[in-house]
Amino acid sequence: MTTTETTPAAPDTLLKSVDPATGEVIATYPIADEDAVRAAVAKARTAAATWGALSFDERRKHLLRWSSRLVADSEEFTQLIHKENGKPLDDAFLELMLALEHIAWAAKNAKKLLSPKKVSPGALMSNFAARLEHRPLGVIGVIGPWNYPVYTPNGSIAYALAAGNTVVFKPSEFSTGIGNFLADAFKKANPELPEGVFETINGYGATGAALVKSGVDKIAFTGSTATGKRIMAAAAENLTPVLLECGGKDAVIVAGDADVKAAADAVAWGATANSGQTCAGVERVYVDRSVREEFVAEVKRILSDIKPGSDAKAAYGPMTMPSQIDIVRRHIEDALKKGGTAVLGGPESIKGPFIEPVVLVDVDEDSEAVAEETFGPTVTIRTVDGVDEAVELANKSKYGLSSAVYSKKNGLDIARRLRVGATSVNSVLAFAAIPGLPFGGVGDSGIGRIHGEPGLREFVRPHSIAVQRFTVPGMALLSYTRTDSTMKLLRKLVPFLHGRHK
Ligand code: NAD
Repeated sequence: MTTTETTPAAPDTLLKSVDPATGEVIATYPIADEDAVRAAVAKARTAAATWGALSFDERRKHLLRWSSRLVADSEEFTQLIHKENGKPLDDAFLELMLALEHIAWAAKNAKKLLSPKKVSPGALMSNFAARLEHRPLGVIGVIGPWNYPVYTPNGSIAYALAAGNTVVFKPSEFSTGIGNFLADAFKKANPELPEGVFETINGYGATGAALVKSGVDKIAFTGSTATGKRIMAAAAENLTPVLLECGGKDAVIVAGDADVKAAADAVAWGATANSGQTCAGVERVYVDRSVREEFVAEVKRILSDIKPGSDAKAAYGPMTMPSQIDIVRRHIEDALKKGGTAVLGGPESIKGPFIEPVVLVDVDEDSEAVAEETFGPTVTIRTVDGVDEAVELANKSKYGLSSAVYSKKNGLDIARRLRVGATSVNSVLAFAAIPGLPFGGVGDSGIGRIHGEPGLREFVRPHSIAVQRFTVPGMALLSYTRTDSTMKLLRKLVPFLHGRHK
């Protein structure tokens, strides 16, 4: 099943979609080569003329119909997410629900935020009417990861569509079926729309690279920092703008006045849910010395009962991408070698595609487990003497995606000191479920924002229009007919307008 016609593929040009729990091949898809990618972009370019010309209300209707289709097909869709990605069915449903929230937000807010606006022309240009309008960019190339294969790319797809662009989507090779399901649902919900409003191209990195070079008007990428850097370098050749949502090494600060039980509960979940394969998941904790013992004991107690698996009772699933298992093992071993202690689990927690929770304490800040994204169900906990030390260590990372703070009295103050794109106070990951809040990072975590108003603005170009309504005799500033008396007048006016502040 593909949503883009590709040239007939030889067997070695097929992508195999695999159940990560069993290794079973679920489906195969023709891999889009450069020609197929160009054809998909050309189709999207043609469709952009129609889709971009629709009113915001019409686009809203099509987007909301898509949501309804996804709701109607949610049983089938969540089964597919479970099978292809490995996450439990309930988590698959929660992910779909969050994606639906974003589709609705983008569909319902695009009109208010992107409609033409009058702008004051200012005193010197008062004979003009000034307008700020927003034009869609055209065709957006979206390249997605596999960890939240519905929610994450939709932070770009839904917002790009709502802003009037068409989309060519390259899902991760580990979630190809899920990506195609999304695009097929859009088509099923909107059969009257031309082909090409939302297309999918399937393949590995090379297909993504071909999309970057294809002449799309923007690349919206979510994935690892290393790939993000490669994409930005390739996009520079045509000055194609990029939105990069990359990795993270998110810290949680547990202050001395924290609700320790609540913090432990949130850390246990935030570090291991989705097998720890969450860009904004909990990777590091800085806990105040005064509450350390209680906090570590509580995290350990909770996670001792948490088991991965692919059965209905499993708390989380297998590692989706087999190569990540070696990275998790390396980080655990490096942490232990550099003086850390595993208070729960260790290298032996890695059992085939499943990794049981691992809690590491007093890990060297320079070890890979603290400095690099682990992307597994592990967490490091370090004791600090007060909030200043916690903030300093949290901010030391090359990443800056998101963070969390547990403090009864000072949560907001501590949050404001963190060099990140988002912070939850007395919760983890809450910002990601609030569609009006933008999401994205600083440093190696990326460039730009998905979600909320900034997330819509990523997919439009501002178009400034100044309309001369009447001419003022002697005040032709933008003409050789300008007179000396005009300049005399201006020399009097400018100090009045701009020179009075002491
Ligand atoms: P990845 O970088 O390996 O792959 C992401 C996508 O890029 C895939 O579709 C892949 O085929 C494609 N790709 C690979 N090489 C390419 C190239 N040279 N040109 C164009 N496309 C190319 O990442 P992943 O393993 O799929 O995802 C995990 C990473 O994503 C983690 O680092 C995680 O933190 C990050 N992530 C970030 C966010 C966020 O919003 N910041 C959300 C989810 C995941």
